[in-house]
Amino acid sequence: MRRMRILMIVTAALLLAAAASFTLLKAMGGNEDSGEPPKAATEDDEKLSFRYKEQPMLGDPDAPVKIVEFGDYRCIVCYRFDQKFFPKLKEQFIDTGKAAFYFVNDPILGKGSVRIALAAESVYHRRPDAFWDYHEAIYANQGPEDEAWATTDFLVQLAAETVPEIDRQTLRRDIEEGTYLQAVKRDAEKAQALGIEGTPTVYVNGRMLTWDETSHYDQLSQIISAAYEKAAN
Ligand code: CA
Repeated sequence: MRRMRILMIVTAALLLAAAASFTLLKAMGGNEDSGEPPKAATEDDEKLSFRYKEQPMLGDPDAPVKIVEFGDYRCIVCYRFDQKFFPKLKEQFIDTGKAAFYFVNDPILGKGSVRIALAAESVYHRRPDAFWDYHEAIYANQGPEDEAWATTDFLVQLAAETVPEIDRQTLRRDIEEGTYLQAVKRDAEKAQALGIEGTPTVYVNGRMLTWDETSHYDQLSQIISAAYEKAAN
C-alpha cells in the first residue's frame, strides 16, 4: 500500500534522526535514563527522556535499541500487538541482546484500566521478576473492551494462578488503596507529554514506530534492525 510505504520511509528517516539525537545527548553529557534533563535541555531532549529505569524491562538493559510500549491492558489492539508481534520481537531482538523492551501504562479506556495498571505496578514493585508473567497473563485473559471485566477480584485471582509468589492480600490492598497511583500517573503524564493519542504506541530509541494492524512483522523488523545497525555502529 503506497501510503504505508511512504510512512515507513518517513519513519526510517526519523529513526536515523533519533539515533543522531541520542549520540548528541551523550556527547552533551545528558543521561536519558536518569530522568534528569541533560545540560542545555530543549523540549525535544525532555521528550526523549523516557525514565527507562522506572519501568519494567525485558532483555539486556545495555542493548543498543530500546523499545517502549505505551499500552492499556484493556485495549484490544494492544492485545493483538502482544499476541501477533511481541513473540517475534522477543525472539529476534530481545532474546538476542539487540533490544530491551519496556512497558509504560497509558490507561485511557476507563472501565478498570487504571485498576489493572495499579495491579501491574504492584507486581512490578513487589516482585519485579514476576512482572512479565503477570503482564502476559493479563493480556491473555483480556475481556471485551466494552465490559468492566477488570475487577479487583479478577486481578487478584489472576495473580494467584499465574504468579503465586505474589501475596494476594498485599496486591488487593495495593489495588484498593492505590499504593502505586503515582507511578501510574507518571506514566500517563509521560504519554500526555508525548501527545500519544491511542494505544498501543511504540517507540524505538525515542521515536514513534509507525504501524497499524495491517502492518507485517517484516516492516517492524526492518525499522528496528535499522535502529540497531545505527546504534551499534
Ligand atoms: Ca510504569
